[in-house]
Amino acid sequence: MSDHIMLTSHPRGGKMSQVAHVHWGAATALERGPVVASLTQAAQRNAIGTHSGAYSVYRALAVAAGHLGRDHKPDYTNTAPVVNIGPHPQWADPSKIISLDPWGHRVGEAFAEQIAAGLDVRPSIAITKAHINMPELKDAILAGRLKPDGDILAANGDVRVTKAAIEPVWYLPGLAERFGVKESSLRRALFEQTAGMFPELVTRSDLKVFLPPIGGMTLYFFGDVEKLGKPETKVACRLHDECNGSDVFGSDICTCRPYLAHGIEVCIEMAQQGGVGLVVYNRKEGRALGEVTKFLVYNARKRQVGGDRAETYFARTECVAGVQDMRFQELMPDVFHWLGITRIDRWASMSDMKHGALVAQGIEVVQRVPIPDELIPADARVEMDAKKAAGYFSESVPEAAELLLPKGRGLDE
Ligand SMILES: [Zn+2]
Repeated sequence: MSDHIMLTSHPRGGKMSQVAHVHWGAATALERGPVVASLTQAAQRNAIGTHSGAYSVYRALAVAAGHLGRDHKPDYTNTAPVVNIGPHPQWADPSKIISLDPWGHRVGEAFAEQIAAGLDVRPSIAITKAHINMPELKDAILAGRLKPDGDILAANGDVRVTKAAIEPVWYLPGLAERFGVKESSLRRALFEQTAGMFPELVTRSDLKVFLPPIGGMTLYFFGDVEKLGKPETKVACRLHDECNGSDVFGSDICTCRPYLAHGIEVCIEMAQQGGVGLVVYNRKEGRALGEVTKFLVYNARKRQVGGDRAETYFARTECVAGVQDMRFQELMPDVFHWLGITRIDRWASMSDMKHGALVAQGIEVVQRVPIPDELIPADARVEMDAKKAAGYFSESVPEAAELLLPKGRGLDE
């Protein structure tokens, strides 16, 4: 390894000819070609950015600290997916999947020849199996809502799941089209807003694929994953955006963990009835505004004149962040296209943004399942009323007078 710094902002010498470009949306893996984001094979790179999303920065620290060699070559023995996913017809439509690599879990098999010849191709998706257990599921068994079947759900509350981890892989022309902006404007904003982290965004318009340094997503499957993509398979789904405070620590200012647990219950029921349950967990903390912004907003809500109330719920977020939400649900339906899903029979979400994004992508939602009222924590009433008033799916929309009432706890209570 040379000690010179390798700039990838411009192709060097005649090596450009070595780059095999990605033909996004091609019908087969071979026609599509592998996404090469190798840091050790600069001349072969056909993507901007690097694998591991945000964790690439920790990898840099490991290299800097001398714990990891710059040229470490992963050994992928026995790491292949435990179940088969795809290919589905949606993989061959360049406009349907633009924010993940549909072949990302199958690179070892799909590009075996290139890998054997020494090309550094890495998986961006991994699929494994696990057992999960949450106290809410034990409560559901005790209350008689869930019945252990000894297969999907054990009497001790253990649930057998398949799970997939997905790194973001963005096809920039497709992203620009989905947002209705020019690709050059998208590239420029990405370049500038990451403080110039990836110069190729503006210097290498021939490179169309970008691995952004952000969090990815995790899928939890209940039931037989390989039934997905068949029209007769019934699907239940909870699409959940990360909320560490509630999801992990049980903070009661929002409905996140209760809704997640309820969604898992709906998924288990569907699997027990022969369908498939799916939880999609996106790393988009605090509506993708981040936890620092989120906690600042909590303080602003609880300290404002008139107390924490639904009427000003979204305004307080907008004051701090400039917008109410940065999750961009427009990208969210990609994962359903990846799984070959065209219809969701039970959709455990009240969000109009999520529902609208699915419908815009031609995915049918048969039944929307709201969170049962008794699962909403008292301090989360402010959030729930505000969302219902803003158009969230609900049987009853709160009246204007209701939204004025302070319902959230004070900061010192
Ligand atoms: Zn939350």
